[in-house]
Amino acid sequence: MKAISIKKPGGSEQLEIQERPVPSLEEGELLIKVQASAINRTDTLTRENKQLSEPYPILGVEVAGIVVDSNLADEKIAIGTRIAGLVNHGGYAEYVAMPADRVFHMPDTMSFEEAAAIPEVFLTAYQTLYWLGKLKQGETVLIHAGASGVGTAAIQLAKKMTKANVIVTAGSEEKLEFCKELGADKGINYKKEDFAKEVLDYTQNKGVDLILDFIGASYWDQNVASIKTDGRWILIGTLGGAIVEKVNLGVFLQKRIAIQGTLLTPRSDQYKAELTNEFVKKVMPYFENNSIKPIIDTTFSFGDVTSAHLYMEENKNTGKIILSIQE
Ligand code: NAP
Repeated sequence: MKAISIKKPGGSEQLEIQERPVPSLEEGELLIKVQASAINRTDTLTRENKQLSEPYPILGVEVAGIVVDSNLADEKIAIGTRIAGLVNHGGYAEYVAMPADRVFHMPDTMSFEEAAAIPEVFLTAYQTLYWLGKLKQGETVLIHAGASGVGTAAIQLAKKMTKANVIVTAGSEEKLEFCKELGADKGINYKKEDFAKEVLDYTQNKGVDLILDFIGASYWDQNVASIKTDGRWILIGTLGGAIVEKVNLGVFLQKRIAIQGTLLTPRSDQYKAELTNEFVKKVMPYFENNSIKPIIDTTFSFGDVTSAHLYMEENKNTGKIILSIQE
């Protein structure tokens, strides 16, 4: 089969289409004929990872496609079923093996591109808002990189499921406008404004209950200023750096700030299955009645994966970048 891996760790120019064997199935797995995958920052980080040894992995952590074979004790998921979900790696390929306990069934009206735009960012947003962030009805959440894949998912979940008060940051007026169309109550252009000052003005100096932070170091002081006493802060990315100089831990004591980091990709198979199952029950009905939508920026062809990675690294996207697999 055709699959996308790397010549060696490095920039997007290292991506290449290779011939790889079709995966063989372990017990409990399905073979998926992939129709669409999507680009994630975890793929660009894997692509650059100098610790990788050969053979380099096939990239891609999410797919939508058709079940073409299975190794299940029962035949609960029939050949021909349209499904989507997380894979541990190998999504940028014509075929991938996926544990059957983490698939979700695609609504009839949903395209493969739309379904491929859901798993990584919506499961991450759901997990961080609710499992880790404990967001409750009516609370205020600050979502950074509001127009990112995860940000656009988090805005919709927080508004539709929790009626939260949603503040977002983003780097352009166009991105902020889009976030507002998705339901964000307040948008802050972090390139033009001090977001902590804006957050405190907007919340009458109370601050926010929860921060979804993809940025890390460059936002540290402003996040500390923006959070309420007893606030929760979930760190899920370090786009603005991982090393924070001169941290004042005293304020963490005074404000009783709870900070937690997380990464979805290295979580266990069981965790991913439990997260998917809860997501299917609680969130898929919103997709079925169109009140929550997958947000697609651009679809790139399989042969154009280099442009797709560059597009993400240049921060051009609002929502997801899809990779069409079957040309
Ligand atoms: P994405 O769609 O590529 O969007 C990222 C956006 O972040 C960019 O478009 C840019 O928007 C903004 N940004 C980039 N560098 C920035 C900086 N230095 N300061 C401020 N804003 C910056 O990203 P995604 O796929 O949704 O992922 C978002 C983040 O979540 C990434 O860090 C990713 O690694 C992380 N993530 C974590 C997990 C997990 O389990 N921990 C899972 C999925 C994703 P502007 O134009 O607004 O600046």
